[in-house]
Amino acid sequence: MKNWMLGLVALMASGSAMALTPWQKIDHPVGGASQAVGGFANGCIIGAQPLPLNSPDYQVMRTDQRRYFGHPDLLAFIQRLSSKANQKALGTVLIGDMAMPAGGRFSSGHASHQSGLDVDIWLQLPRQRWSAQQLLKPQPIDLVSSDGKQVVARQWQPQIGSLIKLAAQDVEVTRIFVNPAIKQRLCLDAGADRDWLHKVRPWFGHRAHMHVRLRCPAGSLECKEQDPPPPGDGCGAELASWFVPHQPSAKPGKPVPPPLPPTCQALLDNHFAAE
Ligand SMILES: [Zn+2]
Repeated sequence: MKNWMLGLVALMASGSAMALTPWQKIDHPVGGASQAVGGFANGCIIGAQPLPLNSPDYQVMRTDQRRYFGHPDLLAFIQRLSSKANQKALGTVLIGDMAMPAGGRFSSGHASHQSGLDVDIWLQLPRQRWSAQQLLKPQPIDLVSSDGKQVVARQWQPQIGSLIKLAAQDVEVTRIFVNPAIKQRLCLDAGADRDWLHKVRPWFGHRAHMHVRLRCPAGSLECKEQDPPPPGDGCGAELASWFVPHQPSAKPGKPVPPPLPPTCQALLDNHFAAE
């Protein structure tokens, strides 16, 4: 290889290494009693546990990324939801990103998923379990039409609505983010039983998965709870505002990250001092 090429390769390698946050370099959970610390978008987790990778009820995707860690409450929720989905014969639940071993910030992709209380669950429920290869390179199904106005009828399955409803009915769940077109479809299909829709929040993206967030666990004294969603089923004016051009005004830009909660900063300092 020519020298200039070697130089280029070295530059590219250092560039990608620099892009990693310190949290991405922690490959095992930090020991201690399980505690979610800080906010969903500025926090970390002590005593995270790995989601068991073998289950008859769910399958875990992209395990090579090691994003299958969370607070024990999150693991219990995933197991509870998947077992109910299995009892109702909805199909296999596909688990995407949870948190990294110590939580914290990702260099790209997620703003939240930082305190071990968030999980992405795909909105497809295969009848047959996926192969190891399919799980490593999963193919998302885009449920939303290209103009963003509705779900694609031939991709939408009633089981998907049932899965979202099951998740929303779980007492530990505070919010579920889905694309506005998916929320609209749920609003249309819900009938008289609508209380659960309150937790289902329209948000950018989320065309092939739902993002489920749990409340702060008992005993996680430094966990910062969000305000509850506004009252009502959220199917009226608020949802309609997502379908008007340029409203809500714009996706919020990348703000400067706030300072870490002191416990998370101390965790980083200790981890890297010990190296
Ligand atoms: Zn997510």
